[in-house]
Amino acid sequence: MEFNTALLHNAFSGDKATGATLTPIYQSSAFAQESPEQLEKIFNNKAAGYSYTRINNPTVAAFEARIAALEGGISAVACSSGMAAVTLSLLNILSSGDEIIAGSGLFGGTIDLLGDLKAFGIKTNFVNHISAQSIEPLLNENTKTVFAELIGNPALDVVGIESVANLAHSRNIPLIIDSTTATPYLINPIKYGADIVIHSTSKYINGGGNSVSGIIVDSGNFNWDEKNYPSLSEYIKYGKFAFSAKLRNGLWRNVGACLSPMNAFMNSVGLETLGLRMERLCYNAKELAEILDNIDGVSVNYPTLGKYKELVRKQFGGKGGAIITLRAGSRDRAFEIIKRLRIPLIATNIGDVRTLVIHPASTIYAHANKKQRENAGVYDDTIRISVGIEDIKDLKDDFYHSIKSIGG
Ligand SMILES: *Cc1c(COP(=O)(O)O)cnc(C)c1O
Repeated sequence: MEFNTALLHNAFSGDKATGATLTPIYQSSAFAQESPEQLEKIFNNKAAGYSYTRINNPTVAAFEARIAALEGGISAVACSSGMAAVTLSLLNILSSGDEIIAGSGLFGGTIDLLGDLKAFGIKTNFVNHISAQSIEPLLNENTKTVFAELIGNPALDVVGIESVANLAHSRNIPLIIDSTTATPYLINPIKYGADIVIHSTSKYINGGGNSVSGIIVDSGNFNWDEKNYPSLSEYIKYGKFAFSAKLRNGLWRNVGACLSPMNAFMNSVGLETLGLRMERLCYNAKELAEILDNIDGVSVNYPTLGKYKELVRKQFGGKGGAIITLRAGSRDRAFEIIKRLRIPLIATNIGDVRTLVIHPASTIYAHANKKQRENAGVYDDTIRISVGIEDIKDLKDDFYHSIKSIGG
């Protein structure tokens, strides 16, 4: 099936009992069973069924099944936020003494989290941009995973997955890809060798900016061994399901970072139009980036325009996603442009249907130091634009006039 057909039909998401075309919102904490034997079986994974929404829920399961199918994974676990997905994907495999290699252009929350993990004996080695070349010198016997954002938010650097995956696998290390900004519309990272794919589904997958949520997709391809991943030892017997089995039966349910049924439902609804929205978003972003690129006094970063153009062509079929960053010349000019814009909302989110703008240095990167900011492509004069589905003429006019009107 092609992408839009698959979104609607590749995993059943209705309700067999009633014929409802979407799995309803099972807004219930607990699921009663007819006998203690049946509940015992469900608790011990000996029978299919539901017990308690922190552990399993039909509305959440329907959303998980659709994402797993869409990404080509064997299983998906939905979480209360993208950050919960990032955190649990790492803690599911790491122990004290382990090291992570990560890109320094990561989402601010992820950078902060990697700092928090130091207190638990987990160290991160940052590289400016993740590539086979840049990570090779940092690999050592404590390196237990490589973590990369496919299109860095907001650095907008693009990772060539295949070569990084090949190198990581040659050292028996899994590659975790945060594919939030790329979305399954641009790429299925598992096809290129990613072992675990995570999304902040709050963004493009939900699409309407109405539910904070995340998901972890397991490719089932990584060969977990007890020696390097001792915390998985009890689960190695599940073979390719080892990672997911541990996550579902361990940390994820014990931390309690489950997705609410309501938010899972909103995500399932949003997911169905992901293809339509991304087609429009990528078109709008490219058009807007090109016009901004031709205005004196500002400089533009967008994946199809710069040094990642070839990689964007190869990995994403030439589409660059829906985030643009703009350097305005000074912080004052950046603020002035933001104030003059009539259409975009000033908000910290991406992947909404509405265009959103933010000054990252004073907000989402306020607590990072200058070096961390610059590694993430965040300068005092940077504006991040999350392009929406408005009519492109309106967006072009609004940005053009706002920038031109401040002069010099
Ligand atoms: C937003 C975002 C996250 C965190 O997701 P939340 O749903 O806000 O917790 C992680 N990674 C990327 C790339 C993001 O854009």
